[in-house]
Amino acid sequence: MDDQQLWDAGTVRLKELLAALPAAFGPTLTPLLNRYRKAKEALAAVGAAVDATSVCRQCAGQCCLNGKYRINVLDTLSRIAAHIPTSTAFIQKPLCPYGSDAGCSMEPGARPADCVSFICDAIDQKLSPQARLILSEQEQVLRDCIIEASLLTGEQMGTPLLLWAGKSDKSKPKT
Ligand code: SF4
Repeated sequence: MDDQQLWDAGTVRLKELLAALPAAFGPTLTPLLNRYRKAKEALAAVGAAVDATSVCRQCAGQCCLNGKYRINVLDTLSRIAAHIPTSTAFIQKPLCPYGSDAGCSMEPGARPADCVSFICDAIDQKLSPQARLILSEQEQVLRDCIIEASLLTGEQMGTPLLLWAGKSDKSKPKT
């Protein structure tokens, strides 16, 4: 399967997984996804406070190149559960398939956890001790959400979506 086929297979399987979750999991999953989104927004806000946009513009988003594995299973599940479509362009290498020349196509709260957690050297130099504390706390929230969601669904939610979809495909019996 190519990347687009893996993406399609992974998202179909996640929709099935969401539909198959017992209704009793709803009260746990919904607040978990809210926590996950809010932690990402808090991480992005730290970057915004030190004008990360200008830093990113100067380096032309080098950290976003080849980003196809950045989005994990829980990131994708969160977008599906919130009915947020994801545009993908796997042919535009080395640009990230989820972005364009204009930047990332995703709102910070629905962006991959890996992306909102990444701090390059240029931004790191601008961070105050208070900002570092917020980053560390919110990164822990993201990790906790991934662990909790993995226990809830029985799937490795921190795995990159494309790798997870590939493994799922190999585990299916060939007909
Ligand atoms: S998903 Fe968005 S922030 Fe992450 S690497 Fe791709 S373009 Fe960059």
